[in-house]
Amino acid sequence: MDYIGQIFRPPSEAESLLLQISLGCSHNKCTYCAMYDNPDQGFRIKKWETIVADMDEAARWSRQHRPIHRVFLCDGDALILPQDFLEKVLTRLKEKIPTVRRVGIYGDARSILRKTPEQLGRLQELGLGIVYHGVESGDDDVLRQVNKGSTAAEAVESALRLREAGLRHSVMVMLGLAGHLNSLKHAEATARILTAMDPPFVGALTTTLVPGTPLFAQAEKGEFQLPDPWGMLEELRIIIGESRFTRCRFHSNHASNHLPLSLNLPTDRNKALGQLDRVLEHRDEDDLKPEYLRGL
Ligand code: SF4
Repeated sequence: MDYIGQIFRPPSEAESLLLQISLGCSHNKCTYCAMYDNPDQGFRIKKWETIVADMDEAARWSRQHRPIHRVFLCDGDALILPQDFLEKVLTRLKEKIPTVRRVGIYGDARSILRKTPEQLGRLQELGLGIVYHGVESGDDDVLRQVNKGSTAAEAVESALRLREAGLRHSVMVMLGLAGHLNSLKHAEATARILTAMDPPFVGALTTTLVPGTPLFAQAEKGEFQLPDPWGMLEELRIIIGESRFTRCRFHSNHASNHLPLSLNLPTDRNKALGQLDRVLEHRDEDDLKPEYLRGL
């Protein structure tokens, strides 16, 4: 397989074939993100011949070893690629690896809303099953400060458009992204946006300061301060306590998190709030994931 730079994928795509159809992220401006700062990974579509060679190799592997059921299309926000190109990729995947049951992709409000409902529906018919969307916060001030490139209202509109197209939506939000000072406002707004979006999957990640990013530089200058682990858990408590879902698989078990939770909401809400209240009351570091086990 032809992989260039660092390959990222959602935790739930651990078993998937990772097919890199583009490099980098078309936005690449979020102040906390260093995912695609490798100069070789500037945003571009990979050559069609390279993608076809990767599909052929994967198809051979699938026949000889174990049928491939899931594929994740990398990199960054690959959903922003032109419609005809994505249709060509999905069509070819179906032909070459007929055992594939679901294809996943990263997308954000910019890439989702650039596609019409009909175009998204067409991608769904061709095998796209799930879009992973870093919403990060429901607070427009925070989204502006971190240069997210989209608003809370656009995130809600994206959720409606994906639902209309029959695509599953997995949403990521970031604990601590507003810093210590605006922590509460960020958490409450994030609970509100999750309620409005009502996605079937949510992952809460913990903001980590990555050297080389603008957010890291702000923290070095004292202009930004992350909440401490207890502050992060208070945000998580607000998000779980105040958001309302029809049916949501909610995870806070990303490597960056202090307290891994895996919940079915609303069923597990009270149990999770009880656990968070106990941890927040005792403030015993033994209840948290050790720092050496946390990562990005
Ligand atoms: S859209 Fe995603 S990949 Fe692109 S810069 Fe922002 S966080 Fe990073």
